[in-house]
Amino acid sequence: MTTVDVAIIGAGMSGLSAALALREGGKSILVLEAQDIPGGRVKTVTQPDGRAYEKGGQFFAHYMTHVCDLVARYGLTRRKVRKMPGAVAILNGQRIVFDGDYPEPGFFDLMFADGADGDFPGSLLDWALQQGLDAQALAQFKTGCEEIMGNPLSELSFRSVRDTLGKFERFDDSMEFACVEGLGTLAGLMARDLGPAFRAHAPVTALDRREGLFHLTTPQGTVLARQVVFAAGPAVSGKVDWQAPQDAWLRDHSRHFLAGKMTKIVLRYDTAFWLGSDFGSAGQTDEPSDFSVMDASDADGGLDCLAAFCGGTAAMMMKGLAEDKVLSRVMDILEPMLGPMVRDPVNVVLTDWSDHPWVRGGYDTWARPWAKSDPWAPLREGREGLHFAVSELAAEYPGLIEGACRRGREVAGRILSGI
Ligand SMILES: Cc1cc2nc3c(=O)[nH]c(=O)nc-3n(C[C@H](O)[C@H](O)[C@H](O)COP(=O)(O)OP(=O)(O)OC[C@H]3O[C@@H](n4cnc5c(N)ncnc54)[C@H](O)[C@@H]3O)c2cc1C
Repeated sequence: MTTVDVAIIGAGMSGLSAALALREGGKSILVLEAQDIPGGRVKTVTQPDGRAYEKGGQFFAHYMTHVCDLVARYGLTRRKVRKMPGAVAILNGQRIVFDGDYPEPGFFDLMFADGADGDFPGSLLDWALQQGLDAQALAQFKTGCEEIMGNPLSELSFRSVRDTLGKFERFDDSMEFACVEGLGTLAGLMARDLGPAFRAHAPVTALDRREGLFHLTTPQGTVLARQVVFAAGPAVSGKVDWQAPQDAWLRDHSRHFLAGKMTKIVLRYDTAFWLGSDFGSAGQTDEPSDFSVMDASDADGGLDCLAAFCGGTAAMMMKGLAEDKVLSRVMDILEPMLGPMVRDPVNVVLTDWSDHPWVRGGYDTWARPWAKSDPWAPLREGREGLHFAVSELAAEYPGLIEGACRRGREVAGRILSGI
């Protein structure tokens, strides 16, 4: 039986970051990952065209220092993403062209304005309807939020979303960079760095506490640990049988969370036919709402591609459809924004994250009925040697790769300093 100081459940960017920091701090560790590869919501595939495609998390900015440092530390290459002025939106059936970025509908300022009710108990939709904004601003807010959060506005708690947004020190040009080799490659290198302390195909199915040790059940046998970091989303915490009486609260804690639905489609073209058109760098639509597309090309040339995102309603509309049907539906949505040439990509990588067995989709948020108390709070604190380290728990940039790295290191810091 293996015994370690800290067992880490999950090898997404939060688990890997925690593991490396704990090892640097002198702890013996073991990372147990349910899937065959590390990375979680970060996943890279190399296609027959020899290029690395990002199925999940991809973009970061220079102020996301942890991701930038990791990319540099593992000798990978950061590439600047092309950003031309201009954007297109199809809202309420109208094609609208913006000269610069989409104008900020002012909602974020309203959410944090002096006198704003931060404890508004309803949905984001209920709140938005009370703000007296025009139909275009409302449609823009709806599609923008739903695409990121992966659920309809009516299912998103105002307090939950406001709390998340309040933790973003900056959000300007957040899609400034991508990694040429892919962030899944980065996760692979981090796991390789851990050597035998990384174990794939090792879902933790049960966790008990006996005689001062945690007992973690995996298909490869029981692992004993003095402390545990659960580095996966609360929406999947219900897959673990929490056997110890002091962990019984976790048995149904996952019901407080709703995982975001998300399908990502990367389309590569021989040439960026949209350059010089009114598309600029981004498109969005409210039919279906939750759909957006951006120019994800290399700013220095050599790679011309678009990244489209179906969140929430759009992802659910496509659920269960064969890939060619999804693609045909996506093309129908893209053509009014980009013209008929959008139908001729040279390569397509389509990934439906909704209901992924170990990740459950995009961003985890609060599920109805929304309790007055924040269901993240007990996870943030951890209990008696059991810590939680998923991106959504980060004090800065929650829900992003940067948040995952920061939360992983923060939890490691707490363990190392004996908190
Ligand atoms: C389509 C998509 C696009 C995105 N784009 C961006 C982007 O451009 N920029 C950005 O910053 N962020 C982006 N994100 C978000 C970002 O990918 C995530 O915030 C981040 O990767 C989360 O990392 P994590 O380690 O916290 O969690 P996860 O990546 O969810 O990792 C959890 C890990 O735990 C494992 N696990 C779960 N249960 C168990 C168990 N019982 N036993 C063992 N292992 C278990 C899972 O298999 C998984 O590997 C995107 C996400 C998606 C889905």
